[in-house]
Amino acid sequence: MNFEYDTDTAQMRDMVVNFARRDLSGPCEWDAADFRRRWQLAGKQGLAGATIPGEYGGSGLGAVAAAAMMEALGEGCADTGFAFSLAAHLFAAVMPIADFGTEEQRHRWLPGLCSGDLVAAHAITEPEAGSDALSLQTRAVRHGNGYVLDGEKCFVTNAPAADIFVVQACTDPDAGYFGLTTFVVEAGTAGLSVGPPYPKVGLRGSPTADVHFDGCVVTEEQVLGRPGAGASVFSSSMAWERTCLFAVYLGAMRRVIDGTVAYVNEREQFGAAVGSFQAVSHRIVDMTLRLESARLMLFRAAWGLDRGDRDEVAPALAKLAVSEAAVQTGLDAVQLHGGLGVVDGPAETLLRDALPSRIFSGTNEIQRNNIARALGLGARRRPVRRA
Ligand SMILES: Cc1cc2nc3c(=O)[nH]c(=O)nc-3n(C[C@H](O)[C@H](O)[C@H](O)COP(=O)(O)OP(=O)(O)OC[C@H]3O[C@@H](n4cnc5c(N)ncnc54)[C@H](O)[C@@H]3O)c2cc1C
Repeated sequence: MNFEYDTDTAQMRDMVVNFARRDLSGPCEWDAADFRRRWQLAGKQGLAGATIPGEYGGSGLGAVAAAAMMEALGEGCADTGFAFSLAAHLFAAVMPIADFGTEEQRHRWLPGLCSGDLVAAHAITEPEAGSDALSLQTRAVRHGNGYVLDGEKCFVTNAPAADIFVVQACTDPDAGYFGLTTFVVEAGTAGLSVGPPYPKVGLRGSPTADVHFDGCVVTEEQVLGRPGAGASVFSSSMAWERTCLFAVYLGAMRRVIDGTVAYVNEREQFGAAVGSFQAVSHRIVDMTLRLESARLMLFRAAWGLDRGDRDEVAPALAKLAVSEAAVQTGLDAVQLHGGLGVVDGPAETLLRDALPSRIFSGTNEIQRNNIARALGLGARRRPVRRA
């Protein structure tokens, strides 16, 4: 085992921290023009297409290097919502086009998605199909040499800004896992409309909205992978998301822990820095323990992705560990800042930004279900013994 980055990854990491600190840390609220401005800058630095092969305009990074990049982005960019948007674009929408697209589809969409000119969104969740993602109501019905899409999507990250939507729809309601098909739909297509951005507790720099399909006609050339392969496109993108996207939170935790250490060393009560009290210093040690443990799990999952593992457990464990650590780190940071912890600042912002991380990419309960199934728990009913 080697716990060191190679020289290129270490240099890239430092470059991204400095770049994100200087150029990406905008207001933690969504503003369409500023979002687009920062997106283009991030694209020029290779962040929007980090894992996409160079021939399509990307940087060709593997999962470990991409996780290092996302960790650096989360550390440097105080607007975790913006970093989340960028990572969701890359891992949930752009990677599926690279992994499952035809050569024509790749050449058509990937260069703009990598350069920062285009923003992508991934739409699977529906009002009646959240955790139960295979029960989608959005239908794609055969029509001539294409399909007609009808249905409602909700909680779609980047929807208000998106130029490209990667959409999951049901093409065969009786086919279960093989009943979903993935489509790439461009913004402005007749029959596609986007609702207003949601007001959210956290990740406010990331715009989220509903997407409606009303008689939206798409061609066969817009099917990603083959018809019926939607669930496997989705699982593949979730393995990347549960690993590399969550690295953003590792960086955010690091930034807030460093800031908290500086604060408790400076703040004095009872004639001493509060950091000298054991209750305070031990809390910071526990924050560090949680971050470092989660970090090891995440990089272990990224290493597996680079080896081509199809293991569902390592990304699920990484997602669980990082999201739970992020929420607890936010709570601890608020506590250690005393009254100032509940006033607008990095501690309360991390807590608000961390809360959604236990929900998106499959809730933590669903991750536990999936891990339990992989451990052989709850998968089968005991066979009925007959005399
Ligand atoms: C900030 C944010 C960004 C998002 N971005 C996107 C996006 O870009 N694209 C997209 O398509 N979706 C996105 N989502 C949606 C997200 O994937 C769903 O919210 C999530 O899958 C849960 O679905 P739900 O909200 O319908 O909750 P539900 O499925 O209704 O779950 C409600 C509660 O019941 C629990 N539960 C449900 N079933 C079980 C079970 N079998 N066992 C145990 N517990 C269970 C859940 O864990 C949860 O606690 C985003 C969500 C958030 C918060």
